[in-house]
Amino acid sequence: MIYQRSSQLFAEAEKVIPGGVNSPVRAFKAVGGTPIFVKSAKGAYLYDEDGNRLIDYINSWGPMVLGHAFEPVVEAVVAKAKLGTSFGMPTELETQIAALAVSMVPNIDKIRFVNSGTEACMSAIRLARGYTKRDKIIKFAGCYHGHSDSFLIQAGSGAITFGSPNSPGVTEGTAKDTLLARYNDLENVATLIEANKNEIAAIIVEPVAGNMGCIPPQKGFLEGLRQLCTDNGIQLIFDEVMTGFRLAKGGVQELYGIQADIVCFGKVIGGGLPVGAFAARSEIMNHLAPLGPVYQAGTLSGNPLAMAAGLAMLQALNNDPAIFQRLEEKTAYLAAGIDRVLKANNVVFTINRVGSMISVHFDANPVVDFQSAAKGDNDTFKKFFHGLLQEGIYIAPSAYETWFITDALTYEDLDVTIQAINTVSKTF
Ligand SMILES: *Cc1c(COP(=O)(O)O)cnc(C)c1O
Repeated sequence: MIYQRSSQLFAEAEKVIPGGVNSPVRAFKAVGGTPIFVKSAKGAYLYDEDGNRLIDYINSWGPMVLGHAFEPVVEAVVAKAKLGTSFGMPTELETQIAALAVSMVPNIDKIRFVNSGTEACMSAIRLARGYTKRDKIIKFAGCYHGHSDSFLIQAGSGAITFGSPNSPGVTEGTAKDTLLARYNDLENVATLIEANKNEIAAIIVEPVAGNMGCIPPQKGFLEGLRQLCTDNGIQLIFDEVMTGFRLAKGGVQELYGIQADIVCFGKVIGGGLPVGAFAARSEIMNHLAPLGPVYQAGTLSGNPLAMAAGLAMLQALNNDPAIFQRLEEKTAYLAAGIDRVLKANNVVFTINRVGSMISVHFDANPVVDFQSAAKGDNDTFKKFFHGLLQEGIYIAPSAYETWFITDALTYEDLDVTIQAINTVSKTF
């Protein structure tokens, strides 16, 4: 495949956009080469600026769970655009999508819409802090909750007590309020809570982790977090920006039957437009302005185009719950196929999967947390990535990303993909 025009466009972009991209992982830094510039997309396929067709396993990093340019979403956005694109005033549409989301997700009474997953998580911890009147939060290494200061934290020298910034620009003052724990390690969490008695406002977790590859919670992990939070007056925040409306209608709360206190959404809930949201029971949500003292706002929050897209997406998922079963079956089929061909070619690997989230790790050991995810062989991944690209298959340009399966993928697409992986893995 030829990527001449993409390369030219990237060179032009680099002159006026830092690194040529508006979000770093798009830049191919982890795999080498230059990014593909996309012209259009429909269903399971991307069409790039050089005229190549690619089978897409990123799907805008999650939102396009029903495939690109999904007709009902496109129609809803186009119709709304003609009636005005932003008002900064309430619309009936906001109530409609809120009511539908509240009906689909367990254990929430009210929801507030924002413009990104980052905003949702940032606002959720502010709400938790305001509600509990405590300052500290616990997050897990390798879990991503957007790019706000409180979450850009790595294990510090005093890792057992507090974290340190992992980006310049994040202050030590902010970092000291974020404690870092190991995913799937309850004992570690209990130790942190014990060392910071009555100081922890919230534990925020990706209930199925998706930003270090896909890492399922081990048996008892989420249940244990729930119990620790209940016992210690801590708010349990499920960051379902990736998993919400993807793993089940009601997300991981429904999938595993565990109740969080605050839930964050993004990605699918916006149907491909910039939307995030956070939700909880009334007693918690009523702490938000204008009802309560915790401030949170947004000029474009609840934007009519974004709400129209989100509503059309949620309606499609709500009206056809078999979608989640189909996604599960397609992804299981893909996983079995990848497993078969990688074994046949003597590749060392581990496949992780929950529902329509799947990741391939080039390491033999179980991948259960950030440390084990980081052991994957990146040289093999680079060959895998570029090999697949040549075969017309687009996966995320980083070994730490989950593949997002869409309902638009056919079994023929999956067979083509498995065959391509067979071809590529012979070259390792
Ligand atoms: C993508 C993601 C975010 C951030 O959402 P943005 O819309 O990119 O700001 C937060 N949490 C999780 C789990 C995510 O996957």
